[in-house]
Amino acid sequence: MARYTGPVCRLCRREGTKLFLKGERCMTGKCALDRRSTAPGQHGAANKKVREYGMQLREKQKTRRYYGVLETQFRNYYAEAERKSGMTGENLLVLLERRLDNTVYRMGMAESRKEARQLVLHGHFTLNGKKVTIPSIAVKAGDVIAVKESSRDNAKIKSLIEGAASKLSPKWLEVNKENGSAKVVALPAREDIDFDFNEQLIVELYSK
Ligand code: SF4
Repeated sequence: MARYTGPVCRLCRREGTKLFLKGERCMTGKCALDRRSTAPGQHGAANKKVREYGMQLREKQKTRRYYGVLETQFRNYYAEAERKSGMTGENLLVLLERRLDNTVYRMGMAESRKEARQLVLHGHFTLNGKKVTIPSIAVKAGDVIAVKESSRDNAKIKSLIEGAASKLSPKWLEVNKENGSAKVVALPAREDIDFDFNEQLIVELYSK
């Protein structure tokens, strides 16, 4: 399935929750969901009864869209989560949280996960000192993510480093506010993921 290139605010309206796909704009009165909370489309405002399957499907789509991964990738994450010991739903969220693009976003070095993905794809970051261009790489405890030396003079990167200084970062990341680098001090845990996910619904969907 191809990557969605349409208006992203429709995705928030479809899921009925803010997915924070547009950075700063999501925090302002310009947020499309704040202005119009109904689902997109001609029948979006209709009061439809949501069945069990529908709830499970929406939860899966919400999670997938929040992290910006494709359907097949999401399936693969689920399969990996199932193979690991512990709760499959929690494993799934932790795997998604460990993605490099998400980590860059959590460092405060991008306005959205989509922007973080672009920055990684364009080679602006290093992982343990080596240039990296794969947004899906899973970070490990002890990993160091930094802006590539030659990208430090880039005006966009400079403004992101300045902006990151005032942002909060999760406790699994030790962010150097001076240069926009970060060390993964521990793997993220379920309680570090501060978004309203009901991962059990995804497990039920895939267990059918
Ligand atoms: Fe979603 Fe942000 Fe658009 Fe609001 S502005 S609908 S949170 S992407």
